[in-house]
Amino acid sequence: MTNPKPIRHRAPVRALHGDGTTCTHRQPRRRDEQPNPECPGRTGYTATCSAGDFTLTNGIRAYVEEQASYHARTTNEPKVTR
Ligand SMILES: [Zn+2]
Ligand SMILES: [Zn+2]
Repeated sequence: MTNPKPIRHRAPVRALHGDGTTCTHRQPRRRDEQPNPECPGRTGYTATCSAGDFTLTNGIRAYVEEQASYHARTTNEPKVTR
């Protein structure tokens, strides 16, 4: 076939600002810490697969992480033959 290299599916989760840009600001670890003044605020999270077949945006980080890791796990699964 013409595709000898298997595609690795990886969908890293990124935090988003309200205008859709990626948030790389440091976030406070504890609730009583001041929020980062440089950050306009995170409004959601997004994951896009490196193979381009999966994109998810949601306000709940755990949900995006779960779906992204599920996608990577299921699409990278080697074909087992016994
Ligand atoms: Zn994928
Ligand atoms: Zn930010």
